[in-house]
Amino acid sequence: MQQEVIIVGGGMVGLSLSLMLAKQNIAVKLLEAIKYPNYDDANLAPYHSSFDARNSALSRRSVQIYQELGLWDSLQEHATPILQVHITEQGSFGKARLTAEQEKVESFGQVIENAWLGRVLLTQVLKEKNIELIDGVNVTSLTQDENSAHIEAERNGEKLSLNAKLVIAADGRDSFCRKALGIGASVHDYDQVAIVTTVQTSKPHTHIGFERFSELGPLALLPLPGEYRRSVVWPVKKGTEDEWLGDENDQHFLDALQETYGDRAGKFQKTGKRFCFPLSQVLAEKQAVGRVVLMGNAAHTIHPVAGQGFNLCMRDAYVLVRYLKDQLAKSADLGEPSMLLDYEKSRLTDQQRVIKFCDSVVRGFSNQNPFLKFIRNTGLVAFDVIPGIKPLVANYAMGLKA
Ligand SMILES: Cc1cc2nc3c(=O)[nH]c(=O)nc-3n(C[C@H](O)[C@H](O)[C@H](O)COP(=O)(O)OP(=O)(O)OC[C@H]3O[C@@H](n4cnc5c(N)ncnc54)[C@H](O)[C@@H]3O)c2cc1C
Repeated sequence: MQQEVIIVGGGMVGLSLSLMLAKQNIAVKLLEAIKYPNYDDANLAPYHSSFDARNSALSRRSVQIYQELGLWDSLQEHATPILQVHITEQGSFGKARLTAEQEKVESFGQVIENAWLGRVLLTQVLKEKNIELIDGVNVTSLTQDENSAHIEAERNGEKLSLNAKLVIAADGRDSFCRKALGIGASVHDYDQVAIVTTVQTSKPHTHIGFERFSELGPLALLPLPGEYRRSVVWPVKKGTEDEWLGDENDQHFLDALQETYGDRAGKFQKTGKRFCFPLSQVLAEKQAVGRVVLMGNAAHTIHPVAGQGFNLCMRDAYVLVRYLKDQLAKSADLGEPSMLLDYEKSRLTDQQRVIKFCDSVVRGFSNQNPFLKFIRNTGLVAFDVIPGIKPLVANYAMGLKA
């Protein structure tokens, strides 16, 4: 009988990974705690826990992976390319610019609505004969022995008992599976929450992504489908979120954006409902133990400042699938512990580079000391004029150099 892989967690990572595995003819059982919404024409992209009001900046590498899965045509309907990136600091002189034209690439990546990404992934998963999706099921126990991993789960009061050669835990930042295996995690609370919404501006976005470091926090404004729509991700100090949430604060929020951004985007005319997400860095101490491997936020949750978290998870998933494909070709055990350790080792360099980069940007730009501000701005100017730096950074940001 063909070996089956169990994935715990059907968020953006679990669904994407299950499709990568199914394409290699590997049978997958995908377990998701929260029931998925019904998608129909009247309800194009309702929110789910992983597919909510957020938009994701997909790197070129992530786009390539979805192209290989044959999903890009559908995803593209609600995605828009980033052709320029501008980085500035409020009240300072430095400015760094990257343009796709100069870097001789089609785009730096694409911004997509998470809710649409969820709809497309789920629709495809439901069509796949190699994937059995069980939603509304809560995994309550994970143990393993030499030969298999064992899961206990609960669905509508009914108990499920499942075995597999390999379990992939993609159950998010607070991963139950990580804890069940006794894997520790280093946690750093940034004392920030990200305010997330969509706004309309009077000037078209012309496919420019802005990152502006302000006293309130690093504000990202990304282009969305529709010339005048932009995605906002604004990490602010924890405890101040009530000032920005709620319909009664719409104008106050628009005014704060205007003050922070100036008139680069024209007038901030309308804002959607704001949502907020607590921000922390959570890094698992191990990612492979026996026949279980951690994936996605369960393995590493990072600050969204540079839009790298999901892209990193996609590269992890892609490499894991390559290892499993090789095992399959040899008719070897898909949960072989030494192979999973090799996978983990192979991903450390890329992971540590991204984790360090995002963390340094958050810490480096949050200090308002005038001397440090000057150094930062000199850095931004240098970035703009020193040859050779931009292509390097652009390649990293696009996920093309691991
Ligand atoms: C504000 C913000 C903006 C971001 N923007 C970007 C961006 O532009 N680009 C980018 O690359 N990344 C971005 N990220 C990061 C990205 O959102 C995450 O990397 C990604 O959501 C991780 O997905 P996941 O599937 O690992 O985890 P999750 O989305 O948390 O999914 C985990 C799933 O597991 C399920 N689950 C949990 N426990 C159990 C259980 N016991 N049994 C069964 N199921 C269970 C949950 O219900 C959930 O559906 C951003 C993050 C934030 C907070």
